[in-house]
Amino acid sequence: MPPEPRQTVVVDGLALATEIRQRLADAVARQVAAGCRPPCLAVVLVGNDPASASYIKGKQRACGRVGMDSVEHRLPDSASETEVIEVVDRLNRDAGVDGILVQLPLPKGVRPTAVAEAVDPTKDVDGLHPMNAGYLLLGQPGLVPCTPLGIMKILEHHAIPLEGAHAVVIGRSAIVGKPIALLLQRANATVTMCHSRTRDLAGVCREADILVAAVGVPRLVKADWIQPGAAVIDVGVSEVNGALVGDVDTESAVGIASIVTPHRRGVGPMTITMLLQNTLDAYRRRGAGGRSGALTSDDDASARS
Ligand code: NAP
Repeated sequence: MPPEPRQTVVVDGLALATEIRQRLADAVARQVAAGCRPPCLAVVLVGNDPASASYIKGKQRACGRVGMDSVEHRLPDSASETEVIEVVDRLNRDAGVDGILVQLPLPKGVRPTAVAEAVDPTKDVDGLHPMNAGYLLLGQPGLVPCTPLGIMKILEHHAIPLEGAHAVVIGRSAIVGKPIALLLQRANATVTMCHSRTRDLAGVCREADILVAAVGVPRLVKADWIQPGAAVIDVGVSEVNGALVGDVDTESAVGIASIVTPHRRGVGPMTITMLLQNTLDAYRRRGAGGRSGALTSDDDASARS
């Protein structure tokens, strides 16, 4: 018998992001009013990929809107790994820079792992440095990748119970799959990680109270993969005939899932918001700001809540 249709909340990631950004803007304004400089994010773009250039612009615009500074460093497509690392190293030594983001993908010959390792871990707002990955694994404070942080905020905002829940994560990348699995486990969920070699993926997904799809395969997750009442988070973004599509067939999840994130205005706006949050955290942890007036715990709590 087909399950009873249920009320599904289609998550408005943009509205939640806007709410959090307002709190971040207030926290930055308080710093500036106290005579400190605002937090500053440095973005590094290598090559001429139009999508990457547009992402970088979006991130800088978001910084400006919450009163943070941003600086952009562009290198040509022909830049060597050494040249990219030299720029990163300059930014590491620049006391006026709190966060460093090197936009991916990088051109052939520039290893993303080598660049990630070159970033000062205290400025690693993408959370990709092995030291931050290690802190996450150990459950110690550090900078965590933005998309998983955004997913946790969405689950928290919608009061999705995590303790004891069965969370299934499809995808095991260092930037989404692995860190979200660790965060969910830290929140006492029981986590199953799936990937391209998982047997009976549909069957595993059907057992999920929380289903996170971070794959990049258009509409991989079908209606009959979703347990009635499950929280479904669609991270994937693929292009099909010029249109952007997610990993989940969102329309068919409506009426089955408790919440579902749409591929537009879902996880994406939260990812950028968590980049701003990480930049503020990096600024605060480094005691930056030009005075001893780094964020007070009250400021921090209001920005984080
Ligand atoms: P990735 O590094 O390419 O990882 C994809 C993962 O999916 C891999 O672990 C892979 O398994 C697994 N996979 C591939 N095909 C599969 C299949 N048929 N069944 C089960 N698992 C499969 O990608 P990523 O960087 O994690 O990104 C994933 C998606 O999220 C992409 O579409 C990306 O554009 C999107 N994304 C969105 C945001 C946002 O803010 N909205 C942020 C980041 C990423 P193996 O490990 O076995 O190869």
